[in-house]
Amino acid sequence: MGNNRKEELKVYNSMTQQKEVLQPLVEGKVGMYVCGITAYDFSHLGHARAAVAFDLLYRYLLHLGYEVNYVRNFTDVDDKIINRANEKGENPLSLSDRFCQEYRKDMDDLQCFTPTHQPRVSDHMEQIKAMIQQIIDNGCAYVVDGDVFFSVDRSLDYGQLSRQRVENHRAGERVAVDSRKRDPADFALWKAAKPGEPSWESPWGPGRPGWHIECSAMSAHYLSHKFDIHGGGIDLIFPHHENEIAQSRAACPETHINYWMHNGHVTNNNEKMSKSLGNFFTIRDVSENYFSFVN
Ligand SMILES: [Zn+2]
Repeated sequence: MGNNRKEELKVYNSMTQQKEVLQPLVEGKVGMYVCGITAYDFSHLGHARAAVAFDLLYRYLLHLGYEVNYVRNFTDVDDKIINRANEKGENPLSLSDRFCQEYRKDMDDLQCFTPTHQPRVSDHMEQIKAMIQQIIDNGCAYVVDGDVFFSVDRSLDYGQLSRQRVENHRAGERVAVDSRKRDPADFALWKAAKPGEPSWESPWGPGRPGWHIECSAMSAHYLSHKFDIHGGGIDLIFPHHENEIAQSRAACPETHINYWMHNGHVTNNNEKMSKSLGNFFTIRDVSENYFSFVN
């Protein structure tokens, strides 16, 4: 691939809330991690927007001659997957595997490039457990009855990305707070096994990871603790990305991600398109009805 980097590429960095010239940590190379889907159903146009937005960035970086390591995860262990699988009487991992495959087909229909790596949570339990242990060893998490919670008050710059003070995010007004947490804002790194749920052995007993830790562990595994771009939907800024930053720094204080980039929502009649509101179109429906090139 030739070097077309004649012009500066400016990207909007959610961390500084400014457009900045992209300056990769390593000359000629870009490491990019984008939060992918939770695989429990067909994906909708909101997911398509995220995929296309970062595909466009990926293609442009390649066009500029960068060697890009593009990592986009699949969440295949999650409450939504377990609930859907229990409703259908299906194994949660086989249900999520099915929808990972459907998503890959959707990406092909949208003609998005395939990322360099598409890691799944269930394949990275060792990395996830090692990072949780590191956070505990560094005094930033605690174990209660087989659950592991992150101590938000050990994170000095918590709220830096979302620009909100931790007090504004305390749970408890609408949702009952788990009384075992030292602080209502603490969040689960590991959840003790419950009947009917998939679980993995760990030093804290059988269980499964909380949602946020997977992206800290998998981004560090594929891109190291310092990399260039972390992306995702704007709704992931809080709590997901804020928690990712806190966990990653608690495990490895040298962690640094240079540019945080977020795509907007797809709206339908001025409302965010989402599964929970029921106002969505799936990528599959749209591609089958409107894309003449799809077989
Ligand atoms: Zn993520």
